[in-house]
Amino acid sequence: MQVLSVASEVYPLIKTGGLADVAGALPLALKGYGVSVKTLMPGYPAVMRMVENATVRMSFESLLGAKADVLEVEHQGLDLLILDSPTFFDRPGGPYADATGKDHFDNWRRFAALSKAGAIIAQGGMAQGESGWQPDIVHVHDWQAAMVPAYMRYAAEPEIPTLVTIHNIAFQGQFGADIFPYLELPPHAFGIGGVEYFGGVGYLKAGLQTGWAISTVSPSYAEEILTPEFGMGLEGLLAYRAADLHGIVNGIDTGIWNPATDTAVKANYTAASLKTRAENKRAVAERFGLIEDDGPLFCVISRLTWQKGMDLLAEAVGDLVELGARLAVLGSGDRALENAFHAAAAHHPGRIAVLPTYDEPLSHLMQAGSDAIIIPSRFEPCGLTQLYGLRYGCIPVVARTGGLNDTVIDASHAALAAKTATGVSFGPVTAGNLRRALRRAVRLYRDPKVWTAMQKQGMKSDVSWEKSAGLYAELYKNLLARKGS
Ligand code: ADP
Repeated sequence: MQVLSVASEVYPLIKTGGLADVAGALPLALKGYGVSVKTLMPGYPAVMRMVENATVRMSFESLLGAKADVLEVEHQGLDLLILDSPTFFDRPGGPYADATGKDHFDNWRRFAALSKAGAIIAQGGMAQGESGWQPDIVHVHDWQAAMVPAYMRYAAEPEIPTLVTIHNIAFQGQFGADIFPYLELPPHAFGIGGVEYFGGVGYLKAGLQTGWAISTVSPSYAEEILTPEFGMGLEGLLAYRAADLHGIVNGIDTGIWNPATDTAVKANYTAASLKTRAENKRAVAERFGLIEDDGPLFCVISRLTWQKGMDLLAEAVGDLVELGARLAVLGSGDRALENAFHAAAAHHPGRIAVLPTYDEPLSHLMQAGSDAIIIPSRFEPCGLTQLYGLRYGCIPVVARTGGLNDTVIDASHAALAAKTATGVSFGPVTAGNLRRALRRAVRLYRDPKVWTAMQKQGMKSDVSWEKSAGLYAELYKNLLARKGS
């Protein structure tokens, strides 16, 4: 089976969040199920620097007004199709925003171009010639690629089955109606059954409307987004499409994330040598300028945003210090939240520290050396850092929502007795409940036998892609069968 995956970020080429991890790892895991994936992604400067010896597979004189080539290249086991269009993608800043954090002014055109290229390839644009290729299925990720099925729906060529995956429904790609004439879609596409959304154009909405199937990244989130609280305006459409909505939990790349072989950590270890983690713990404390004692070391590896519940943690940091714990925060985001953590660090020197940067290797060391990772998200489609935590014996302290709910087993009396507990979870998500969860975590830490048992249980959990890749392969197969029927 041949699949075209379309994503705006793919690890290890470019990453701003979990989407990149998924887009980079799922194709590798699908190989085991006889599924070959080519991944179409934008040629940002960072991506263009990494690809050498690429072949031009297709050229557009005008793709939504700009010249573009589709380059094919293999990179670390991934078959990549790179949309090389300097007008759209060769510019400073990140994939979505400039260096000041302001969205690129033409994101609507950049990602419509990505989607249109994806639709053209899906419908046979690269099928000619000796090395001609056409996918059986298209799998698109988030709003940046969600217009692929819409472009296919309104093209002359026959559609092929599509799957739209929602990694975070908070990001919807909503634009004004004034962009519609430039999207190169027929006038009737601007309707309730097409791309129209609250009077404007909605990219994710268009994908949810026209995609053959929809998935999101955990079973709990698949249920939550049917409610107004989590659906963020799309709950009605999703309820209408409920029969085609699936929840498949993300896995992680257990080759890259392996404490026994990880080169980014100070000392490698396994579940049988957990004491070795102490070396990593010292290294984390040193990197953050924290004091060293025998108390628990908590960490945060996250965007500092309201979604991630970071305001709640900022309120609770004083409690952590009182409990004899330390906290290392890695991440940046909202200025006010960054300032709150800086203020806490200034108030509790040696006990709380924050590094407002993005540092992939340091994130590995923190998982390998911290005792627990705090994830108090208000909503969390899947979440990856708790999965890394489980794999590294870094106990997740999580809000009971979305994928966090599906992957962490709370240390309740029953779970502790049955030795199934892998973390601490709390809900509803309030500062008070977070405080209680942190207190509970510290109490558990003070009982090394219980703590070690939880670490070992977490390290035993299956967080690989194996099972989930199988579920995606099955979903693809069902979609193909639907095409034939
Ligand atoms: P989201 O995609 O909503 O940001 P996820 O938990 O799904 O959240 O994925 C976040 C990914 O980004 C994880 O791989 C996490 O380790 C990584 N990450 C987040 N912040 C940082 C940071 N400051 N430095 C390094 N890695 C980070």
